[in-house]
Amino acid sequence: MATKIDFYAVLEVSRTASADELKKAYRKQAMRFHPDRNPGDETAEHKFKEINEAYDVLKDEQKRAAYDRFGHAAFENGGMGGMGGGFGGFGGGGLDDIFEMFGDMMGGRRGGGGRRRTGNDIQVQVEISLSEAYAGVKKPVEIRTRVTCESCHGTGSADSNPSDATCPTCHGAGAVRAQQGFFLVERPCPTCKGSGKVVRNPCQSCKGAGTTEQTRSLDIAIPAGVEDGTRIRLTGEGEAGGSGVQPGDLYVHVAVGGSDIFQRDGANIYCRVPLRMTQAALGTEIEVPVIDGSRAKVKIPAGTQSGENFRLRGKGFSVLRSSARGDMYIQVAVETPHHLSPRQRELLEEFEAEAGETQDQEKANPEHTGFFAKVRDFFEGK
Ligand SMILES: [Zn+2]
Ligand SMILES: [Zn+2]
Repeated sequence: MATKIDFYAVLEVSRTASADELKKAYRKQAMRFHPDRNPGDETAEHKFKEINEAYDVLKDEQKRAAYDRFGHAAFENGGMGGMGGGFGGFGGGGLDDIFEMFGDMMGGRRGGGGRRRTGNDIQVQVEISLSEAYAGVKKPVEIRTRVTCESCHGTGSADSNPSDATCPTCHGAGAVRAQQGFFLVERPCPTCKGSGKVVRNPCQSCKGAGTTEQTRSLDIAIPAGVEDGTRIRLTGEGEAGGSGVQPGDLYVHVAVGGSDIFQRDGANIYCRVPLRMTQAALGTEIEVPVIDGSRAKVKIPAGTQSGENFRLRGKGFSVLRSSARGDMYIQVAVETPHHLSPRQRELLEEFEAEAGETQDQEKANPEHTGFFAKVRDFFEGK
């Protein structure tokens, strides 16, 4: 009963997450661990089930409230009948899902001689800048982990010819049974970690575990085009598990920083460039920064409007696992001057007088002219 992970932690959201945030987090996690994307990976399969179970509860306001109050106990035997206040345990398909899940767990163990045994997975977070995400980067990380014991080379035995004894906890079965609500659930034995055997004469350095704790330094290669929240899996770089056990995996969570100049949307980059109103009216050429550190020239034609976009093809991020590249968009924002010098004021007053008198209004300011024509119609009741 104690092995269940917090539903919020499963979805990697805070306890105050909104329904929208939950949905987003669920989609992201479900995509990541979907069996189609991780064929044959039992860890991912298990995680996928956890994610669905967590979302099933948290997406429902009543279930979520019950979970917040009672934790997992809300959905164990007490939750079925004993809960007051209109809450009646699982609704709809929830119960079937859970039956299915337990069925899988027990069936799998009985039929196939246990699942693949591995060392623990490790999770690390790496923070990189937007420019580093653009170019790709190698980041050093230090992880506290378990490595194969040097004294016994992972056998866990002090003898050069190690011999086994039957595990005293599970009597060789490799699993222990525990009552969980209505169900009798099998779990890997904590003493022998599922092997059913223990070492007869344990190694002094690792006390028979076959592994010792150590700090490892690694350079993590982060590919160009990586997005914020990406998780990189390094198979076999997790904790060692001892003799005959596969090491776990290392999961690197990548957090990509923001920028004062650039906004990113997938492979595309946006850069908002404020222009003086005269530049927009007369046309000009501007120099803009590019994410790769270079500069680019952009021609702004006369009569450019606020909000217009200019595309710089191929100046965006590279798309992961593809040769495609995003674009960069210059978004023009026309800035009306805040303080005018007396001379500027004079010039603009002259300009305004000219606009009123001689110009073809519909050509010069089509939106302005069109709008006030509609306003006139409105007052005249047309
Ligand atoms: Zn050892
Ligand atoms: Zn055991």
